[in-house]
Amino acid sequence: MSHHVTRSSEFHHPNLDVLIEEATLKARIAELGAAITRDYAGRVPHLICVLKGAVVFLSELMRTIDLPVTIDFIAVSSYGDATRTSGEVRIVKDLDTSPAGRDVILVEDILDTGLTLNYLLSNLRARNVHSICVAALLNKPARRLVDVEVAYKGFDIPNEFVVGFGLDCAQRFRNLPYVAVLRQPSQVWPEGAAIGG
Ligand code: 5GP
Repeated sequence: MSHHVTRSSEFHHPNLDVLIEEATLKARIAELGAAITRDYAGRVPHLICVLKGAVVFLSELMRTIDLPVTIDFIAVSSYGDATRTSGEVRIVKDLDTSPAGRDVILVEDILDTGLTLNYLLSNLRARNVHSICVAALLNKPARRLVDVEVAYKGFDIPNEFVVGFGLDCAQRFRNLPYVAVLRQPSQVWPEGAAIGG
């Protein structure tokens, strides 16, 4: 196998306009972690991460919470590979452990219409959690269809399609260390690229 030592074009893709720099993301997430540390003193918050987009936010956030925490993961289908919401939410991978009796913080990448979080909140409440709140890295107020209270919110952003820091377009760009607006989302994979999943 030939080894090309070229810099990946991923971080400098021409269709990306940086919206939130890495340092800005980390600084804001540290503030959220400090707030959670204060608010949950003496308790063991249970962080439930909504796969896959929120994994980067979760991993950053949990390291800024100076308390014992536990984590679990849930996956729902909402957008698929398209950029428009269907309004239909379905659990594709459920939690490993029951959240009953726990102080749950639902960790989500982005709040758009609110349909996903609204569904997850009622689904988890029905499993007898002790308390539940939402931590969302990004918020697009322009497209809200249902009201969702966010206790720990990172950034309000304009109504643009964004990728990076966990967020994808057709599974690509999750590894960008910053959040960027993606122009022409329909053209991210070159013709014939093999990805699967
Ligand atoms: P909601 O149910 O609030 O409309 O949508 C939430 C989900 O939609 C997010 O978890 C994310 O998967 C997806 N989503 C909404 N806006 C964007 C966006 O700008 N970029 C990406 N990559 N996903 C988005």
